[in-house]
Amino acid sequence: MDRRWLFADQLGPHFLDARDQPVLIVESRSALRRRPVHRRRAHLVLSALRHRAAELGDQAVLIQAGTYREAVERLDEDLTVCAPTSRAARSLVGSLPRVTVVPARGFATSAAEFTAWAQRRGRRRLLQEDFYRDARRRLDILMDGAEPAGGRWNFDAQNREPPPAHGLGVPGPPGFTEDEIDEQVRRDLDRWQEAGEVRLTGEDGPREFAVTRAEASRALRSFVRDRLPAFGPPQDAMLAADPVMAHSLLSAALNLGLLDPLECAQAAEAAYRSGAAPLASVEGFVRQLIGWRDYVWHLYWHFGPDYRHRNALRARSPLPDWFTGLDADAVQARCLKDALTQVREHGYAHHIIRLMVLGNYALQRGWDPAELTGWFHANFVDGYDWVMVPNVVGMSQHADGGLMATKPYAAGGAYINRMSDYCGGCPYRPAVRLGPDACPFTAGYWSFLDRHADRFAHNPRMARQVRGAARLTDLPQVVAQEKDRGSQAP
Ligand code: SF4
Repeated sequence: MDRRWLFADQLGPHFLDARDQPVLIVESRSALRRRPVHRRRAHLVLSALRHRAAELGDQAVLIQAGTYREAVERLDEDLTVCAPTSRAARSLVGSLPRVTVVPARGFATSAAEFTAWAQRRGRRRLLQEDFYRDARRRLDILMDGAEPAGGRWNFDAQNREPPPAHGLGVPGPPGFTEDEIDEQVRRDLDRWQEAGEVRLTGEDGPREFAVTRAEASRALRSFVRDRLPAFGPPQDAMLAADPVMAHSLLSAALNLGLLDPLECAQAAEAAYRSGAAPLASVEGFVRQLIGWRDYVWHLYWHFGPDYRHRNALRARSPLPDWFTGLDADAVQARCLKDALTQVREHGYAHHIIRLMVLGNYALQRGWDPAELTGWFHANFVDGYDWVMVPNVVGMSQHADGGLMATKPYAAGGAYINRMSDYCGGCPYRPAVRLGPDACPFTAGYWSFLDRHADRFAHNPRMARQVRGAARLTDLPQVVAQEKDRGSQAP
């Protein structure tokens, strides 16, 4: 059996054909040098890679090299590799003479199944909801025969509750004990940073995410037992004192390949079948996994290499220094300050904070979508090219002109006020759009609509809002105020 080359996001047992298959693991310095990267992310990836090599012992060869190519040439053996997750890595492995590429793993729907679904006769749009239902049927997840469990495919209406006033009262995620591998990773990162070999963002701190299969399995069990039952209704809510709420925090482990999405979906379904978790919560989690996660993965390939450069709204402003520097202290707006603090301290924020605070702010101000994609990729522990290109370019910034989402995810302070407890402690007022108390999200929302009125006037999901903006007698002053604010931290 040929040696299997494992990339840093292929670390679970399901990336091997047999338990005793020989393995190559490469630690490429150039992969870390390419661009600034959050310290937590760099630590997690290096730690996971080295832990896997240590676990495999003599079965694995770990090569630390300047580049992947250098390592493979040094080994000089026939290798197989599961199709890597980025275009750059796929092109590299395709160019190496003794490397055979086998189909990708770590996703619930294969490339062939996605293509069959996308090409099905009569399909005009690649809607996530259709893809998700197809996956549920094909994988027999949350199905009662041919019908969805509970008679409904979608529990979104129940899963958009504002945060409960007194919090969720659920246990947090499990902690992880660092070992000598983590200590060595920390020393290496310090050394490389001092030597100017890597540019690290964010703050260091005890490791908060799984780096081994055993840790990831423990995190999955703890989520299913402790937080899944409460996950659904407040999944779109934000609480200042509880950044985790009932979220799974499993995305980093899934994207390192330590967990398989299907096993996570099956564990959640088992909790529903045994009566341990309500269907709305389980369905919401399963939708994120075999629905959204796989959908984004396949669209990354389906939309082609130029998709990352799409910029339908001609958003050209550079990201300001306070944002790229994760300088939360420069920000007064409480929701944005909290979001940046979470990124700086943890390399993590849950999906609504990413979409409706960080992404929403950037969208309103016309920040460059490709630059923003790079920022999310570098600063989140679960950030990978295939994750961030569709999520940021398509979903968050509407830069694909509506291929992924039929309307832009722009919202004013009223939305954040309804879905969080941030506004009470903020110097701005969510309902105010003009003057010193004006909420930057509310003022930014109306300015965004004004700027793109022509484009969205005929969008059935946006036309009413565009007409609403046109009726505001103070709209010119709001727009001028936002221009004056420019790139200053709000
Ligand atoms: Fe955020 Fe505006 Fe609310 Fe302040 S008032 S927390 S800036 S939405």
